[in-house]
Amino acid sequence: MNENLADLISQKLPQPVFRLIQGAGRAAAVSSQDLYLVGGVVRDLLLGRPSSDIDMMIEGNALQLAATMSSKSDKKPILHKRFGTATFKIGDYRIDLATCRSESYTYPGALPTVKSGNIKQDLFRRDFTINALAVCLKPGRFGRLIDYYGGRQDIENKLVRILHAKSFQDDATRIMRAVRYEQRLGFKLEPVTLKTLGRDLNMLDTISGDRLRHEIILWLGEAQPEKILKRAGQLGILSSLNTSLAWDPLWKKTFPTARKLSKGTQLTQLYFALLIYSLDKKQCDTLLKRLGVDGGEFSEIAADTLKLKYNPEGLDKSGLKPSEIYARLSRYSKAAIQVHALCSSSLHVRRNLKLFLDKLATEKTYLNGKDLMQMGMPEGRKVGLILARLLAARIDGEVRTRADEMRLARKLING
Ligand code: ATP
Repeated sequence: MNENLADLISQKLPQPVFRLIQGAGRAAAVSSQDLYLVGGVVRDLLLGRPSSDIDMMIEGNALQLAATMSSKSDKKPILHKRFGTATFKIGDYRIDLATCRSESYTYPGALPTVKSGNIKQDLFRRDFTINALAVCLKPGRFGRLIDYYGGRQDIENKLVRILHAKSFQDDATRIMRAVRYEQRLGFKLEPVTLKTLGRDLNMLDTISGDRLRHEIILWLGEAQPEKILKRAGQLGILSSLNTSLAWDPLWKKTFPTARKLSKGTQLTQLYFALLIYSLDKKQCDTLLKRLGVDGGEFSEIAADTLKLKYNPEGLDKSGLKPSEIYARLSRYSKAAIQVHALCSSSLHVRRNLKLFLDKLATEKTYLNGKDLMQMGMPEGRKVGLILARLLAARIDGEVRTRADEMRLARKLING
């Protein structure tokens, strides 16, 4: 079947992006090189899903093509000379240009040995058939679908299929990618792929912490990560990553609720806090070590989440002054507080944390340190203490206006 996607490409991609792609195909042809759209964008075009990350591969020299294109248009690429690749940005779209290559792996989990190659070899190094489709951009054949490995039929049948039996051994991150695509697209793992995945679960041990962490962040960046986690639990992927990690039925509720509370990177952090909430300190440390987390935001969120779990700062009672709640929580990361507001078994803890998140966390004083110094306060530690006292008064409703706050500040400075 000679399927042609030219109309689909021109309808689905913004015109400036379409023109760049078309121009790139023409420029490549002038130097007798063939250029292709590959990977996710082809899959998503066929599925009618939006895709703003566009990969183009050339059988030739990507940097040379980028230079030719840049000399003929006002669209200037960012060159990554070390990798021999180039990136064009048009609005929200990112168009990457690279050279076709073939890869071989010396041992499981190793970085591949890379040589330049043709489109067939380039597609063969990919993870799944649905990601191993290409579209020819050569004038005269523009839009023709290139399908060496049956990806078109697998899209039709909604199947995630590896290209060869050693795929997961070559790169076990594909195990994590497999469930991500399966759940995102509502596909199924093709039966042999499913069996191979089960056989090769221990290959996850060959993957570095950085790469595992990256894949977990990609899981958490999906629209409904709980579906992926459930499937990963069923398939034994979670326990292969860490013996204490398992699907928690509570996630079915807490993940969607988390989505209503947060967005973007904050949401990923909150999901991460949910992921480790049920672990104890030792289990959590083992997981963080496996994921190469050493310092940084995830360390902090994990530490705060467990600290609050084992010592809820006396928040499991009613009648606390708002300023007391603020003082006990202001040092904690937001994700750790949010996860306890969702998951704590104590109604009082949940209420107090919710009050903090909904109201107290954003309270501010009218006055700042400079104002206090203008009022005669010498520079020093006491400035911070007075500001904290002013904030507490504001949180508890003891002062309401700027004038109220100035009166209290004067009293505190002189007192
Ligand atoms: P997404 O929509 O998740 O971004 P994508 O298909 O664009 O999907 P990327 O992670 O951006 O995914 O990778 C681009 C392409 O590179 C994929 O389509 C796939 O062909 C290939 N690829 C990425 N990671 C691997 C891997 N670990 N093994 C083999 N091929 C891979």
